[in-house]
Amino acid sequence: MKALMLDEPKDIKVVEIPIEKIKSSDEILIKVKAAGICGSDISIYNGTSPVATYPRILGHEVVGVVEEIGSTVTKFKFGDHVIVKQTESCGECYACKHGRDNVCIDLKVRGVNIDGGYREYVTVPETSAYVIPKDLDFKTAVLIEPFTIAFQACSRGRLEADDILLVYGAGALGSSVIQVAKSFGATIITVDIEDEKLKKAKELGASYAINGKEQDVKEEIKKITNGYGPTICIDTVCNPKSVEFLIDVVGNAGRVVLMGFDMNESHIPQFKITAREIDVIGSRLQHEKFEKVIDLFADKSIDPKDAISHVFHFEDISKAMEVVESRKFRKIILTFNEE
Ligand SMILES: [Zn+2]
Ligand SMILES: [Zn+2]
Repeated sequence: MKALMLDEPKDIKVVEIPIEKIKSSDEILIKVKAAGICGSDISIYNGTSPVATYPRILGHEVVGVVEEIGSTVTKFKFGDHVIVKQTESCGECYACKHGRDNVCIDLKVRGVNIDGGYREYVTVPETSAYVIPKDLDFKTAVLIEPFTIAFQACSRGRLEADDILLVYGAGALGSSVIQVAKSFGATIITVDIEDEKLKKAKELGASYAINGKEQDVKEEIKKITNGYGPTICIDTVCNPKSVEFLIDVVGNAGRVVLMGFDMNESHIPQFKITAREIDVIGSRLQHEKFEKVIDLFADKSIDPKDAISHVFHFEDISKAMEVVESRKFRKIILTFNEE
């Protein structure tokens, strides 16, 4: 079978590898149909990921069809359409035992430090896949994965209907957060510097859109929230300044959810956190969010069809990478096993 192998940064090619087989009775064999190219795949490709190891088969946004099941598998049958979970965890550490397997001490992330789904077949334990509706096309279904990350941030922030949520940044991640947050019934404010993205954010469910280049963001937020501040801020800009800003503007008893991997320092006087009892919360990957997001896709609460800008057969990876280099894309999907 064929796979896309990244031998070292910038060196990705189609290779022939041994056909994938079920290795233990709890596994399912998946015929891959589509996989997304995500920001983290691009950073691994470019050699800027702090966590990746090489050589590596990339891909953590993977959907396909169940081709074979192990003898003890109960959750799946032949022909089910499925999406693969991004991670594997030890099940033994404190995090795993406390429902936080996404931050397992021995976390394995597909396409990062274990091989991912850019290949014709993949096997995973049955606990690492979820059934998706058959009427959802595979390319759209790939987008379930990034929405689980957005859902995790909302749930880490304990988002509720009476919250005023500030989504800082209205790019790909920000717009996913907005769509998930809308399903919680929260009031959403977003900030970006591009009018195009702000317009889109309003279509997707933001009630207020502030242009950080043209408007005084702090003043606007004050006006909208009657001086209280947002009760939750989710940072999808993810740099030291955005962290400082959000801790500054969040309201009393509010939460600031961080999602970035930036290694630079923020400067925050502790009084800003203690005086108003603010929670500063990290959010990484997801825990048990697939089923929730699949439901939102199934009932069309989330319908991200125009999020996909390019589709390539996986053997045309060099064309896909040219688009990546051009930086002019939204979501790029690779297809596999096309009939
Ligand atoms: Zn991703
Ligand atoms: Zn663990």
